[in-house]
Amino acid sequence: MTVQEQYDHLVETIKGYNPGADFAMIDKAYHYAVEHHGEQKRKDGSPYVTHPIAVAQIVADELHLDSESIVAALLHDTIEDTDVTYEDVSREFSPTIANLVEGVSKLSRVVYTTKEEEQMENLRKMLMAMSRDIRVILIKIADRTHNMRTMEYQSKEKQRQKSLETMEIYAPIAHRLGMQRMKWELEDTSLKYLDPVAYNEIETSLESKREEYDAFLARVTRQIEDRLHEMHIPFHRVYGRMKHPYSIYRKMFAQSKTMDEVLDLFAFRVIVDTVADCYNVLGIIHDLYRPLPGRFKDYIGTPKPNMYQSLHTTVMGNSGIPFEVQIRTQEMHEIAEYGIAAHWKYKRGISGEASEGTYEWVRKLLENQENTDAEEFIHTLKVDMFADEVFVFSPKGDVTNLPAGATPIDFAYSIHSAVGNRMTGAKVNGRIVPLDYKLQNGDIVEILTANNAHGPSRDWLSIAKSTEARGKIRQWFKREKRPENIVNGRAAFEAELKHVGVPLSDVVGTELETTLLKKLPYSTMDDMYAAIGYGGFSAQKAVGRIHEEIQRLHRQRQAEKEATEPVPDNASATRPAIPQRTKSEQGIIVEGLSNCLVKFSKCCTPVPGDDIVGFITRGYGVSVHRCDCPNASKERRKETEGRWIKVSWGSDVRESYLTALEVFAKDSAHLVLDVSSVLSTTNTRVKFLSADATSDGYAVVRLQIYVPDSAQLATVMRKLNQISGVMKVDRPAG
Ligand code: MN
Repeated sequence: MTVQEQYDHLVETIKGYNPGADFAMIDKAYHYAVEHHGEQKRKDGSPYVTHPIAVAQIVADELHLDSESIVAALLHDTIEDTDVTYEDVSREFSPTIANLVEGVSKLSRVVYTTKEEEQMENLRKMLMAMSRDIRVILIKIADRTHNMRTMEYQSKEKQRQKSLETMEIYAPIAHRLGMQRMKWELEDTSLKYLDPVAYNEIETSLESKREEYDAFLARVTRQIEDRLHEMHIPFHRVYGRMKHPYSIYRKMFAQSKTMDEVLDLFAFRVIVDTVADCYNVLGIIHDLYRPLPGRFKDYIGTPKPNMYQSLHTTVMGNSGIPFEVQIRTQEMHEIAEYGIAAHWKYKRGISGEASEGTYEWVRKLLENQENTDAEEFIHTLKVDMFADEVFVFSPKGDVTNLPAGATPIDFAYSIHSAVGNRMTGAKVNGRIVPLDYKLQNGDIVEILTANNAHGPSRDWLSIAKSTEARGKIRQWFKREKRPENIVNGRAAFEAELKHVGVPLSDVVGTELETTLLKKLPYSTMDDMYAAIGYGGFSAQKAVGRIHEEIQRLHRQRQAEKEATEPVPDNASATRPAIPQRTKSEQGIIVEGLSNCLVKFSKCCTPVPGDDIVGFITRGYGVSVHRCDCPNASKERRKETEGRWIKVSWGSDVRESYLTALEVFAKDSAHLVLDVSSVLSTTNTRVKFLSADATSDGYAVVRLQIYVPDSAQLATVMRKLNQISGVMKVDRPAG
């Protein structure tokens, strides 16, 4: 057959199922392929272009796909194997067709190595995920089918490798897409190269009994047809066939039987019009032959995950040979044979072209498969058109699946936490990428590591997409940063206690500590601080656990005080629940008043060493301001004369006070890092830190820190001032 004849046959085939196809475009694709494959030859010496035409023939003949698919099949090797580019195809044909061709090429570039089952499953998923358009995988399966049909000209090595790939990857995909016929062909041709001895044994055995078998098939077919006529049941077709070699092979293996011992060699099909008739025929078959117990399956009532529907029964023939009968309607039959592709046909609009509803069936198919063992796969397939997973290769060819949007950090931690913790950078497809690079399907990812790497940074927690990576990063902070975590956790716990009016010293080393630790899975306070520090536990929860004890303590203190001192005024008598802040606790001496409630103003956050002045609030005791606070300005003091009172720092100040700072600087990537490192080298506990960049390239870092006194605060401010780019460090007030 000449190339032209082969093409004419293709056109005839398409006319047979889709007279409205775009023959002008198909013709153009044919000539385009002929021109660009030029003198290229196949292994058997025939012009290369016979291959794409044959693939288009399969796409048309077996799958009845639309014009775009035929064109893409004709062009499927042009981008990969000729000087044609994606842009050329997009311009000459359409972006959709260019995407289909590029999609098929991408799948061809995926390299397989023999792997355990889990890897195979990942490869299948990856192929599906890469085929955004389901037509890509259908064309690829047609391509593989033709390659398998013409495999005899390849080297032994290539035959084995391709067959393995087909058996492990493409046949299962065809099965899951419900394409029974293609699946069988792929399995049988693969078996031929994978186990030639067994394949030949089966073939020879079937061949030697061909006449006997044919007679049996004809006899049973005839019996069934006769009975159906007799019973006036309309039917499309009754036919019998031998089971295909790979299914016989599997039975031999599974049941450790020789070819002669495998009885289940024959299958008959009865194709009828209606579902009701399926059940009528079943009754007739069971009347005609003796059914084998336990072999009836109703896949009409309960379709298989891949939408397969049929009634199956195995019966004993009159000559003592068992055989299977499958009963189904015409539509069920087409779906059984061509799966997803059959539905393509059913959903095609008047024009004969695929319509918007095309994917509807795909979705239905996928939803149907959800509660099966292939659930994972189907989930991927379902989202492949709306992907939420990404599949990438290690440099060795292992496939890993990660959530969509995953970064090299996720990949590194998926290998091992040690890889993630030592990661210094990453290469994708040979090029260095930033750590927040979003991985694409098929990317080859290489993680760069160093033994003296710094370990993960806190930012990684927000860059990583997978829970696995985030968990491992947190784990690292938990283990590696214990001293830091303890400090931070202690500060958080102290601050939280302060909210309920209890100093840390009332808890540490007291009964409260014992009570608290008894209620928690930590054996020491440091363990608890560490947990709070890395985020595994919260200060609020810790304080919550001793809430009742704290309440009791307050009541007790209040009672003690009322017993020893007269209540100074009505106001304090009416607020027994409000924690009393005595001068000794706050380190403030209020002139002329003892036991008065003292609080530090939020506007200027004074620390020991600052000049301070007190303001008598209505009902909340004395508020302490820095003398230089605008809220304590001369004008203010005049306005509210009589309410200002002298205060001073006592000798019993607390170990630290919360105060605020503002750092003004030129914006740089390192600013926050530099600020934090000053804080950590000066042993400064941080309560709050935020950085805001202004549009003109400057930034303000706002801090709330704990310092013992103004001297230490001055040191911190000086060091902050030394950071390059910092212009001003301020204590906000007013
Ligand atoms: Mn090809």
